[in-house]
Amino acid sequence: MFDILIIAVQVVGLYLLADLVGGIFHWAEDTLGDVDDPIWGKVFVQPNQTHHDRPADMMKIHWLKNNIPILSFTALVLIVAYFADAMSWQLLVFAAFGGFNQQAHRFTHAPRHRLPKIIKRLQKIGVLQNAPHHWKHHIDPHVTHYCVLTPWLNPWLDKLGFWRGLERIFVPLFGAPRRPDLQTKSWYRD
Ligand SMILES: [Zn+2]
Ligand SMILES: [Zn+2]
Repeated sequence: MFDILIIAVQVVGLYLLADLVGGIFHWAEDTLGDVDDPIWGKVFVQPNQTHHDRPADMMKIHWLKNNIPILSFTALVLIVAYFADAMSWQLLVFAAFGGFNQQAHRFTHAPRHRLPKIIKRLQKIGVLQNAPHHWKHHIDPHVTHYCVLTPWLNPWLDKLGFWRGLERIFVPLFGAPRRPDLQTKSWYRD
């Protein structure tokens, strides 16, 4: 019984970790990313910029095409882990939750009547993020609510100034080509 409880706590922790890592990746796309950057600029930053400009266009893309970048990245992480002899059930569960980030995001943009009943229920009880919660990220200047999997982390991360802290550490190192608000800071470096 105790073992099952330990596993359950780990699964919940991995679910939240997948939400956090997805949020950090999204923050990096929005903040450090440049559409002209090699590989990730085309694969992640450009579609992300398009999504900010025209959120409704997401539903015009086939769901599989929409999920391919994150699923490919997840598969790459698993392949590296396999050859590094670092495979574990926790990594597989984390990869499954992490790889689901984009589909969970897509569900927040889908018309409600097209959502499967189970997804509507999971959004209602807060296991998955719902549309009004995600929409807060789509309000200009898109600098809060970076996590897209659950509604649990965003309020805390925003309240604690987590994203502003990351900006203070990483923007002086890498610049922030898509963030004119940061380019006026005394600590900004290109
Ligand atoms: Zn964004
Ligand atoms: Zn969105």
